[in-house]
Amino acid sequence: CIRCCTALGCQSAGSLSLKQRLEEAVAEVDRTDIEVIGVGCMGMCGHGPLVRVDPDGVLYEHVHAADAPSIVAALDGGDATAPRGDPQHPFFTLQKRIVLENSGIIDPERIESYIAAGGYQALYCVLHDMTPAEVIDVVTRSGLRGRGGAGYPTGLKWATVAKSHGDRKYVVCNADEGDPGAFMDRSIIESDPHKILEGMAIAAYAVGADQGYVYVRAEYPLAIQRLQRAIAQARRLGLLGAQIFDAGFTFRIDIRVGAGAFVCGEETALMASIEGRRGQPRPRPPYPAESGLWGRPTLINNVETFANIPPIIRNGAEWFAAIGAEHSKGTKVFALTGKIRHTGLIEVPMGVTLRQIVEEMGGGVPEGRVKAVQTGGPSGGCIPAALLDTPVDYESLQRVGSIMGSGGMVVMDDATNMVDVAHFYMEFCKDESCGKCIPCRAGTAQMLHMLNLIRSGQATAADLARLEQLCIMVKETSLCGLGQSAPNPVLSTMKYFREEYEAFVRDEG
Ligand code: SF4
Repeated sequence: CIRCCTALGCQSAGSLSLKQRLEEAVAEVDRTDIEVIGVGCMGMCGHGPLVRVDPDGVLYEHVHAADAPSIVAALDGGDATAPRGDPQHPFFTLQKRIVLENSGIIDPERIESYIAAGGYQALYCVLHDMTPAEVIDVVTRSGLRGRGGAGYPTGLKWATVAKSHGDRKYVVCNADEGDPGAFMDRSIIESDPHKILEGMAIAAYAVGADQGYVYVRAEYPLAIQRLQRAIAQARRLGLLGAQIFDAGFTFRIDIRVGAGAFVCGEETALMASIEGRRGQPRPRPPYPAESGLWGRPTLINNVETFANIPPIIRNGAEWFAAIGAEHSKGTKVFALTGKIRHTGLIEVPMGVTLRQIVEEMGGGVPEGRVKAVQTGGPSGGCIPAALLDTPVDYESLQRVGSIMGSGGMVVMDDATNMVDVAHFYMEFCKDESCGKCIPCRAGTAQMLHMLNLIRSGQATAADLARLEQLCIMVKETSLCGLGQSAPNPVLSTMKYFREEYEAFVRDEG
């Protein structure tokens, strides 16, 4: 069969007309044995549109509609006009695909395609062979930690919701991905939407919920459309709704479309938005696990966390726990972007080094040298090239002043000014601050003002010290994660690239 990527990146490069032309070319030569399948993200987004011919795994990149007849002819020994990709490139071979196991393989618009790949088996097994406590035990023993950024143990969160009392419980999938440079959750939904629904249904059974919501930002129209289609298909086959698999379990999922406020990725703001109120955080406790949506116990996990659940149930806790690093089990999906040869979506076992990702998988920077890698978006930090041997796991990234975050990874070369980088992220945080608490509302504006002073050559060395103090104050006193982490890009660039700040400083004399 011929697989043509129809995820958003390749669509924007013309893959829908390419797919249509491939179908026509197959019909023209009357090859009823060849199927053209629209699939999700194959990963190397910067080389799209991508086409793979299976079972031989012949990869074509930068494919135009005009290449379609030659790709079909190549099945009979002709030469395709499209450039050949290298499926043995480290970009592909160093990956370990669990979350993305179906991405680029199945047709995300057909539930049959997901079922043929083993989809909904885990849900069937859970409903027929396991108690809720057993499901939570498997998730706990797997060592899975939340992939939204904080890395909280997933099993522990599920156990807390299961223990909490309420006349109703909810499961929420946080798909409000908003970090600049991040597109993991969007790609996962676009490529394999049923996996999220299956993961949520398993979670609902485990914690005793009967209603779920996927909170997804409006800027992701294709993801929303594929989710809507997937929910309708699952309902039609009795895999969502009442009496799933005739096992006495009822679970419905609805989509809530967010208006694109970054702060709505924060769980209490997200819940306020679902309830129809202004999306602003509130103090915790109470945590959503005890008092969430409409005051009821609510389980909130992000897209990638839910996508890990069906494979963990199918393969067992020990299988998952054997992958990755000591305290960070499994894999992590990253959106690899910035000044790098091969941009795209990768999934790597926890514990690989930043160097392996940037230099081997990403092929390094096109010109000059790697200067820094930014992980964790506006909440994260800039890791200098000297620390590229840092393993990618929750603790190691924190030790070097950054965070895992949800999976944005931006590579910077030596032409990048790190004060400009800090300014970019601070401008983002200032614009996205919801304004509820003063440290963040006034602090982000003031930090941005000081960065402007520095960049215009009007700051003194004392101003640098004041900026650092302000960063620490905002970190320690802001109400939610946005304000608490907004200073991180400034602090990490001041720590590792201080000379670039000092180069702007004017002489006090
Ligand atoms: Fe709003 Fe910022 Fe305060 Fe969070 S820290 S509540 S985003 S003002």
